[in-house]
Amino acid sequence: MNLKNLQEKVKLSDKATRYHLYTPQEKEILTMTVKLNEEVGELCNDILSILRVQRKAKLEKFDKRHVYQEFADVILTTLQLASSAKVDIERAVEDKIKRIEQRKKNKSE
Ligand SMILES: [Mg+2]
Repeated sequence: MNLKNLQEKVKLSDKATRYHLYTPQEKEILTMTVKLNEEVGELCNDILSILRVQRKAKLEKFDKRHVYQEFADVILTTLQLASSAKVDIERAVEDKIKRIEQRKKNKSE
């Protein structure tokens, strides 16, 4: 396989859909989405270390106290992203919990 050929093959043409971001809000949403992904990745990294299925070099550097911070980072970044996207997160969570409870109720009937 030739990666340059593959890169050329999948290259977006000028006519193809591109990811145009016009407003500061769109840029903020994209930035916060990437940031959330980073924080989830850091949490995953710590979970792998706790389960000891991580590379030895990473296990040697791991401090399990960091996992608490990573859970907090994921929650805080999610809240920031919701604010950027103008999502009423409290309402979203309440609605979701109602749906889950309704699904459980329907299963038990
Ligand atoms: Mg973090």
